[in-house]
Amino acid sequence: MSNRKRLDELITLSVELGKPGNDYVILGEGNTSARANDETFWVKASGKSLNNIDAGGFVQVDYAAVITTLDSRSLSDSAIKQALREATIGETELLPSVETMFHAVCLFEAGAEFVGHTHPTAVNAILCSQHAKEAYSGRIFPDEIVVCGPEPVFIPYTDPGLTLSIAIREGIRAYQDRLQRDPKLILLQNHGMIALGRTASEVQRITAMAVKVSRILQAAYAVGGPNFLSAERVARIDTRPDEHYRQRMLEGQ
Ligand SMILES: [Zn+2]
Repeated sequence: MSNRKRLDELITLSVELGKPGNDYVILGEGNTSARANDETFWVKASGKSLNNIDAGGFVQVDYAAVITTLDSRSLSDSAIKQALREATIGETELLPSVETMFHAVCLFEAGAEFVGHTHPTAVNAILCSQHAKEAYSGRIFPDEIVVCGPEPVFIPYTDPGLTLSIAIREGIRAYQDRLQRDPKLILLQNHGMIALGRTASEVQRITAMAVKVSRILQAAYAVGGPNFLSAERVARIDTRPDEHYRQRMLEGQ
């Protein structure tokens, strides 16, 4: 895929995620990214809105420079800003989003080619509740497993920016160690969600499915609580060949 086509796909994805009717983000909320090549990626610039973004709303940044910032572990807010400015490629007044560091981790350490971070009202209604962790601890229907994987990564609330990015990296690594695969969905308590896709359309599907799951959970809690599928049933859906076939069909759409 040419670089320009990739950037166009990222723009289309961003505008789609930002559509007011989806209720995934408002104002300047949320951010998206895509790998540009083995060393760099595009990420939404700070302050841009997803719903009307174009190529001028993204900055290209150097992965290694962003990860060095993450590895520093304890930089001041202004030092992080300066480091992100220095990680930016080319002449631009734009500053990469403060959440650029976790995009770097998702794109270069978790197998994603496109990443969409949003704050959907339906998802945050649960993530901001007393029982967020419990609500997302089990799977409730087969298509959820096919699209979002056998489980999400759940990150307890932490300060956005560097601290959150470090927590996300640790959460991804623990997930990879335990499940021997990359996550598709990361849930951030009292904050929002991250969809990790091999394609732009996969990011859309994961986001849409996480929203649907969350709406169903809200209704299920009103009718006595969700009936979580057993681990055996989840594993069965996760590994059966016809579900893999469906995943590939979805990919072809
Ligand atoms: Zn956010």
